[in-house]
Amino acid sequence: MEATLNIPFNKPYLTGKETHYIYQAVQSGKISGDGMFTKKCHDFFESHFGFHKCLLTTSCTDALEMAAILLEIVPGDEVILPSYTFVSTANAFVLRGANLVFVDSEANNPNMDVAAIASLITPRTKVIVPVHYAGIACDMDGIMELAKLHNLFVVEDAAQAIDSYYTGKDGVKKALGSIGHLAAFSFHETKNIMSGEGGMLVINDARFANRAEVIREKGTNRSAFFRGEIDKYGWVDMGSSFLPSDILAAFLFAQLESLTLIQHRRKEIWENYQQAFKVLADNGKLDLPQVPVYASNNAHMYYVLCKSLEERSALISALKESGVMAVFHYLSLHSSSFYAAKHGERKLPHSDYFSDCLLRLPMYFELSKEDQARICDVILDFYNKL
Ligand SMILES: *Cc1c(COP(=O)(O)O)cnc(C)c1O
Repeated sequence: MEATLNIPFNKPYLTGKETHYIYQAVQSGKISGDGMFTKKCHDFFESHFGFHKCLLTTSCTDALEMAAILLEIVPGDEVILPSYTFVSTANAFVLRGANLVFVDSEANNPNMDVAAIASLITPRTKVIVPVHYAGIACDMDGIMELAKLHNLFVVEDAAQAIDSYYTGKDGVKKALGSIGHLAAFSFHETKNIMSGEGGMLVINDARFANRAEVIREKGTNRSAFFRGEIDKYGWVDMGSSFLPSDILAAFLFAQLESLTLIQHRRKEIWENYQQAFKVLADNGKLDLPQVPVYASNNAHMYYVLCKSLEERSALISALKESGVMAVFHYLSLHSSSFYAAKHGERKLPHSDYFSDCLLRLPMYFELSKEDQARICDVILDFYNKL
């Protein structure tokens, strides 16, 4: 039977104010970077999440590339990162000649296994890059302790982690992206808060603040010039063009004003899924996401864990037949055609497990109760017939 109504995997949510603010940005006469709306976004992030300094970028990929430039990564430096992540986490450092050292995921969580990091540290190690998968925190106390002990930098790939938190051993709740020396966020249209394409570099270690501005502005001190701190600007360092037009910032600011509303609805959807599938988990048919005690859940993503690659393929087909788009992603980077030879033989079984078995379900603000019920029915039906 042909399904009539399709449920997409993602649908970007518009608050309604985006075009209004874009109009204002255009009318202001300054639509290049660092205009009025960029400043509003920076202020919002710094005051809401305790980030030391924020710089909007054109993508999270760009923010990660800026981080690698800032940390002066040179050929031969080693960077420790999960294999189960998006290519941008890796590319940013490969572009500077770094060697990637992949660490496995935890057994029951795609985040990096912190206990496996210590044995991978060598005198060439320079950076650890935790990726907060699905917006769920990595064990940041463990990572920051290792970094301190071995004099390493920590760059949080917080692409998925807006408005998500980590509570450390000291009991203090900190926003993800505020803990590492640097952090990168994404505002791609698949993320909770978005501007189509977009990103942000967060600088928590004040030593990097001035140079970050310069690198983002083509290696010039134009930012200081615009603030009136110097009377002319020039070429002072290496750099590129990483700043977005204020039109994009205007779009993003409209989204930020609705952050609470967006997060509330997404968490509702997440909880509905988790409750619907509890019976399958209790019967051992399916595994569900687990949120560690130290982590909050920003409902960036809902996923289920199938028992095998074959089972996942069959489930994707069953969903597709009912008009539901569900997707997997992240083929382990250590076995990618680009990096497998450089990585060598070291096995990362948990990363491979998530590559094979993790399935993401539709998750977006406007997902209706009825549509979500239909998705759940297909999955419950699938497992009842197994
Ligand atoms: C989305 C994402 C990125 C890339 O973000 P862009 O803004 O598209 O460059 C990087 N890392 C992770 C973990 C992501 O989910």
